[in-house]
Amino acid sequence: MTRSLVELPPPPGPVRMYFCGPTVYARAHIGNARPFILGLWLRSWLRASGYEAELVHNITDINDKIYDAAPGASAELAARATQWYLEDTGDLGLGMPDHLPKATESVPQIVSFIEQLIDSGHAYAAGGDVYFRVASYPGYGGLSGQRPDQVEQPEEPSALKEDARDFALWKANKPETEDTWWDSPWGRGRPGWHIECSVMAEDIFGPSFEIHGGGLDLVFPHHENEVAQSRSLGHPFAEIWAHNGMLRFTGEKMSKSTGNVTTIREAIDEWGRETILVFFLGGHWRKPIDFSELTLTQAAAQWRSFGMAIYENRPPRPATGWESFEDALNDDFNTPEALAVLHEWRAASQLDLLNRGLSIFGLGFVLEAPPEEVQELAKERSVARAGKDFAESDRLRDEIYRRGWIVQDGVVGSTLVPRKDM
Ligand SMILES: [Zn+2]
Repeated sequence: MTRSLVELPPPPGPVRMYFCGPTVYARAHIGNARPFILGLWLRSWLRASGYEAELVHNITDINDKIYDAAPGASAELAARATQWYLEDTGDLGLGMPDHLPKATESVPQIVSFIEQLIDSGHAYAAGGDVYFRVASYPGYGGLSGQRPDQVEQPEEPSALKEDARDFALWKANKPETEDTWWDSPWGRGRPGWHIECSVMAEDIFGPSFEIHGGGLDLVFPHHENEVAQSRSLGHPFAEIWAHNGMLRFTGEKMSKSTGNVTTIREAIDEWGRETILVFFLGGHWRKPIDFSELTLTQAAAQWRSFGMAIYENRPPRPATGWESFEDALNDDFNTPEALAVLHEWRAASQLDLLNRGLSIFGLGFVLEAPPEEVQELAKERSVARAGKDFAESDRLRDEIYRRGWIVQDGVVGSTLVPRKDM
């Protein structure tokens, strides 16, 4: 909103964050991973810095895209795609937002918010729809830097609007294309997209909270409209806006495999979660980032280099302290600079600092040493594998598993990680 950096209140805050989530009608695009990851990394860093940080990430499960993608079965598709999103983002290994509200579960609150807008003259009902009256809110355009009289609303024109700039808060049901609806004082229908986020954010946090995030493509109209809806009722709404840069698919030639990777699921399956996370660390969150064979290969190499340093376990040499890492993240959450500090620690074999830093981003290594007999079994297994005695090697793997450890054959040899279910 201010086009400048804003100081956070001192710890413990709170820092309450609302990051716009996906519209669920297919497996989520890898570009959707960026705001998800940024929100969880910020929460992780703020908590490590002594803040009470909380993250809300909404699920838009009422939308034209869902009706279009599954005529006659939109609710089933939305439920399935929500499950996909939770599975795929869960596999990033960063934990989950504190709240994941769904539009379908927020309709009564949305209806009452719209009623308040109508009662205060900021909205009007027309033919079963309800529109926000942009002329009633003089601050309109402030977030996206547009003059209020020159704004063009991208949504489809409607003869029911008083003014072309007005946008829908409630849409009357179209029985031929929309197979879900809710009852309201204006008849059967469903909420618009923008009102959902004003309502869900305020439902959980109250009329004011610290940070609102989302992709740069959401500034207008989505976030501009959220601001108008909430502030016209006198609610302060988000104090700080933090828009992440977009993921770019660069012109460079991609191999068949990378060229086909467009979803979070495919990216994790193809490259592994660690490589995806290192890739995102390498770009400043506010700037665009290039998703390509080259940048992912580089991220994979960086991840391997961290693993090698950890498992080689050489004697440490002097290096910069924790403050350098802290300074990088406390200044506009500069992850590329933090990544450079991680590499300095890697090169100096400062493994405690390295692992502590990596853990902030969900990349920490499990350094618990397995018991001696398990290490012995792992050695025997390596010998069996080297001699291509795969039956024996499998038997030993099972034996190790029974004792609570998993053998992972990776690029830096086999490692032992503790079973999570024991
Ligand atoms: Zn939103």
